[in-house]
Amino acid sequence: MKLISQGSLHAAFAFGELTVVSLRDGYVDMPPTRLRDEHGCTLDHVPASVPLADGNLRLSVNAFLVTDGTKSVLIDTGASNAWHPTMGYLMDALAEAGIAREDITDVAITHKHEDHVNGLIAPDGSQAFPRLRRVWIGTGDSDVFTGRLEPLRDRVVPITDRVAINEHVTAVPAPGHTPGHTIYEVRSSAGLLIAWGDTVHVPTVQFEQPTVSWELDDEQPQARRSRLAILDRLAAPDYFVAGAHLDSPGIGHVIRNGTGYTLEYVTPLTT
Ligand SMILES: [Zn+2]
Repeated sequence: MKLISQGSLHAAFAFGELTVVSLRDGYVDMPPTRLRDEHGCTLDHVPASVPLADGNLRLSVNAFLVTDGTKSVLIDTGASNAWHPTMGYLMDALAEAGIAREDITDVAITHKHEDHVNGLIAPDGSQAFPRLRRVWIGTGDSDVFTGRLEPLRDRVVPITDRVAINEHVTAVPAPGHTPGHTIYEVRSSAGLLIAWGDTVHVPTVQFEQPTVSWELDDEQPQARRSRLAILDRLAAPDYFVAGAHLDSPGIGHVIRNGTGYTLEYVTPLTT
């Protein structure tokens, strides 16, 4: 994973024969009371080492583009103008990275929440990707294509099981955060990258304490099992994680550390 270019809204990496581009949609602040222990209770305390912004956790919101130069898959789309104004910069991030909206034919959604799916419609109300052919999404989440997203419904490809999007990218159901939560495996000669959506929301807490869940995990025991299984798998040489809410650009190595894990980011972080 070698850095090719970086700006305030993007970082592009060579990953074997592929290019992986992290795209920064923005950030969202959430209260630490959303963190939950194994009994579903709020945590007694958040470790003093966890940075807070005005008392809130600051979650980066990232999307990722995977391309072999011909075929591209965009994983998640940010929030556009449909949530908080600290998000909605995906179009600017693509422009900064030199990626044309018209070149994106396949979008792979990790799950139906606003900060992942709403960017299919640009802030100006236009369809963000005029040549979009397929929107991949877990079947349990495909009911989100109503209202604002209704015009895209005819391009939805529901994911029911492990399925290849192309020769590099494979969708794998990982339910818990939502019923249709899906991770995407990206294989190249340089290893395996897993774009894991919302498997972890607060990296400064949940790598060290991977049993800690998030209030917005629909099925917390199932989300916990998914998280533990994915972390266990990722702690291997030549494996990388790309996380929607890991600190931008959100790509790193997972290292086993006692009963938990450590995340080693691949580049300096944007705050
Ligand atoms: Zn999210």
